[in-house]
Amino acid sequence: MAESSVKRVNLLGLTLAKMEAFFLSIGEKKFRGAQMVKWIHQQGVTDFDQMTNLSKSLRDRLKNIAEVRPPQVTFHGDSEDGTRKWLMEVDGGSKVETVYIPDGGRGTLCVSSQVGCSLDCSFCSTGKQGFNRNLTAAEIIGQVFLATKSYGLPVKDSQKRSVTNVVMMGMGEPLLNFEPVVDAMSLMLEDQAYCLSKRRVTLSTSGVVPHLNELARVSDVALAVSLHAPNDELRNELVPINRRYPIAMLFDSIRNYLGGLNDSRSVTFEYTMLKGVNDSDELARELSTLAKTVRCKINLIPFNPFPGTRYEVSSRNRIYAFQRILLNDGHVVTVRKTRGHDIDAACGQLAGQVADKTKRSARYIQIKDVSEQVAH
Ligand code: SAH
Ligand code: SF4
Repeated sequence: MAESSVKRVNLLGLTLAKMEAFFLSIGEKKFRGAQMVKWIHQQGVTDFDQMTNLSKSLRDRLKNIAEVRPPQVTFHGDSEDGTRKWLMEVDGGSKVETVYIPDGGRGTLCVSSQVGCSLDCSFCSTGKQGFNRNLTAAEIIGQVFLATKSYGLPVKDSQKRSVTNVVMMGMGEPLLNFEPVVDAMSLMLEDQAYCLSKRRVTLSTSGVVPHLNELARVSDVALAVSLHAPNDELRNELVPINRRYPIAMLFDSIRNYLGGLNDSRSVTFEYTMLKGVNDSDELARELSTLAKTVRCKINLIPFNPFPGTRYEVSSRNRIYAFQRILLNDGHVVTVRKTRGHDIDAACGQLAGQVADKTKRSARYIQIKDVSEQVAH
């Protein structure tokens, strides 16, 4: 078969090992893999003709069998507070969101892993959109690629780079899109690509226990777990996957993950503050007792409302009272600043535009319509 009739491989999502394997498979030397990873991720070059250390014949050959294709950016907006949001169109017309949050010397990029989410946490806007499909490794790392490129700053220089931290906290449950997420994170950490420290790349999960156990075998990035409730009864309601993997099982898995790291890092528990639902003093005390069973930090997230939700955010005083109980017990507790509100880029507001295959969004809209009718 002529090489030109073969579907082109998108080199953007290949880890260093996979890139080396690709070059070996076409009869080239292994070191071409590192050269290509550097051209793409450190130089931001997508045109083979600009890759001057490759021979003309190799460049011509690559044009027939490969491509470097980032996702299509359809919109980006800047918030008054410097937060920037991109809407990336992926094949099939769905859109996913990526958010950049500058803070002092830090630049944190919040990256999406799926188009929508197949889980259905009751307070999450992404969950209400339903699920369309997993993103490919190219689409995941493509978000880092495009954000980095848009700031035009060097990747290698840790003092000057724009993206200093990545959090897998955008749309989707990263552990349910395992291999592409692990590959993309490998490029984030890779010296020939974004060379971020393993402490500055964080995977956030709602608690998919078998996959978290698997992650412990293949990765050592920082871990955040969306807890939101200190007991199974309440967590079952807020984070339905808890019915399958209850808190005791989840905590075993977290301890196993932390035990596999060769340092003393802790897990970060995310706890979205929902007025009258999970924000009482009693629940703070219950959370404190539970949190003592694992090395952790607690991050309280003021709930970000979205159209049609039945929840409200806890008052500022309630959040601080909840925090105080935990602090008095010796926990490290932060309250997340809400950023990018004016461009709907805050946590849980990332809705993108999902061509929902689960029909969940339709169900949700119906429920919303009914409640609006009742309210009027
Ligand atoms: N699926 C993963 C990662 C994406 S969600 C997870 O659940 O961890 C990223 C974080 O935003 C999670 O902690 C999630 O619980 C939180 N979140 C979701 N909806 C929210 C909302 N409306 N307001 C505030 N935080 C929200
Ligand atoms: Fe999915 Fe996370 Fe939202 Fe739950 S909170 S629905 S797991 S994106």
